Formats: sequence, C-alpha cells, structure tokens
Amino acid sequence: MKFSITSKGNAQSNALMHKIRTYLQDFGLTYDESQPDIVISVGGDGTLLYAFHRYSSRLDKTAFVGIHTGHLGFYADWVPDEIEKLVIAIAKTPYQVVEYPTLEVIIRYQHGGKETRYLALNESTVKCVEGTLVMDIEIKGLHFERFRGDGLCVSTPSGSTAYNKALGGAIIHPSLQAIQLAEMASINNKVFRTIGSPLILPSHHTCTLKPVRDQDFMITIDHLTLLHKDVKSIQFRVANEKIRFARFRPLPFWTRVHDSFIADKDQ
Ligand code: NAP
Ligand code: MN
Repeated sequence: MKFSITSKGNAQSNALMHKIRTYLQDFGLTYDESQPDIVISVGGDGTLLYAFHRYSSRLDKTAFVGIHTGHLGFYADWVPDEIEKLVIAIAKTPYQVVEYPTLEVIIRYQHGGKETRYLALNESTVKCVEGTLVMDIEIKGLHFERFRGDGLCVSTPSGSTAYNKALGGAIIHPSLQAIQLAEMASINNKVFRTIGSPLILPSHHTCTLKPVRDQDFMITIDHLTLLHKDVKSIQFRVANEKIRFARFRPLPFWTRVHDSFIADKDQ
C-alpha cells in the first residue's frame, strides 16, 4: 500500500509526520506523494482541506485520515498520543471507507469564456468586491428570489459545521446527499425580501446565482479565495465525486459534533 502525509507545517506536525513515515515504512508500506492509496493529514481541518484539494483529481482512489495537532480538527479523528495505534491499524487491518458528499461549483463567464469547475469539501461563498451583493437565485432553473446582502454560502453536509454554522445554518448529517444555501446579512424590509431561512437542496436540484448588476465577485472554495471577473452565472449542486475517509474505529458524526462544540470527550 502507498501512502503520503500532509502536514500543517508547524514543528509538532512535522515531527509527527516524520515519525509516522518511518513507522509505516518499517511496516513495509511505500511513501508515494503522487499516487497514494491513503493520505494522512497531520494538523487541523485546514490541513485536511489542503490535502483534499491536492488530491482532488484522484478522490476515487484515495482515502483520507486525519490526526489533529491543532484546536478543533473536525475532520481529524486521531490525536498525537494515538499514532502508534493508528500506524498499526493502517499497516495491519483492512479499513472501512465512509464517503461524504462534496460540492460542485461551475462558474460561467460573459462573452462565452471557458467555464471553470471546482469541488469544495466545506463550502463556496460569494461576495461582492465592493458594496452589496445582488443576485438572482434560481433553483432547478426557476426564479426563486432576488438576494441583496453581504453574501451567500453554499455548503456540504460535512462543511455545515464550519462557516455555515456561523451563519445560522443547520448541521446536516453527511450521509445525506445535499447542499445548503445560507444567507449572509440579507437586506429585508418592505422593498426588498428574501426567504431568510437556510435552504437544503437534494442532489438532483441545482442552485444558480445570476448577477444583476456587478459581474466581479470574490468567490471562495474552502480556504481558497479568488476574484472572478465578467461572471454570467455560478451553479452549485452535489458533486458526483465524494471524499473517502478511512475509518479504523467508529466515531459517530454526532459524537464529533458534541466533542467539538458542546464539551470535550466524556463530559
Ligand atoms: P481557519 O480560519 O483556520 O478556519 C476557521 C475554523 O474553522 C478553524 O477552527 C477550523 O478548524 C474550522 N473548520 C474548518 N472546517 C471545519 C468543519 N468542516 N467543521 C467545523 N469546523 C471547521 O481557516 P482554514 O483552516 O483554512 O479553514 C477554512 C474554513 O474556514 C472555510 O472552509 C470556512 O468554513 C471556515 N470559515 C469560517 C468562518 C466563520 O465561521 N465565520 C469564516 C471564514 C471561514 P482547524 O483549526 O482545525 O483548522
Ligand atoms: Mn485552520
């Protein structure tokens, strides 16, 4: 089996990375950064997001596992004290794979330029470069509302505990093939009206944003922020690609939510 390790880059994560690499090679596994069967992320959620994007072209052939050395580590199930246990598990036991949905974002441009397609693990957000974002929102090709406000956030179920949660969105179990659209500070008065509630869409529905006046937007894909000019539309839906996590022991999603947001383990 071939593995690679992505580190957050701080001293603790780098030291762990070297230790794990040596242990796994001692067990006869091969270090291969270009075509790993398993990718070990050492750091936090940011590190796992980075690893996801690094290997996004071979998601069907790669399983991810996270070790957290940081604060939260929502995607990272293992702590540094457990690495001997984890190394033995990786080397010796066949692991289960759980799949989580990802988000497909397709940006189309005025003047027929080439469209761009992205995959997000957490979310994509859209904001204006300056002033209020004004967007027509279509769901399944039908006009839903004209949004005015700070921005819009479309998240995956596993990303629903990230930016989406700060916007008052629901936490969605990642076994549901869905995406969630959440508002950022919409303008609501007797002239302008939006639904106000986050919307959860099934996998066969697309959500498309169409600019009303500006055409330049700051669009994030997870930790990546890019300025897109002359945008004609931004389309979101559940992607065909999934992220695969290697599971060596059960860690229910709701336990992870509890441990991350309510109290540490055993409380
Ligand atoms: P960051 O500024 O370090 O991330 C912000 C926090 O979100 C960190 O504590 C991070 O955990 C945590 N996080 C990331 N994904 C999560 C998830 N799926 N569930 C729960 N918490 C999660 O930047 P980053 O590490 O590069 O992460 C980028 C993400 O930051 C974006 O995808 C977005 O979701 C989030 N973000 C949140 C807000 C907000 O809540 N207002 C604003 C901007 C961006 P770690 O410390 O383990 O990395
Ligand atoms: Mn981070």
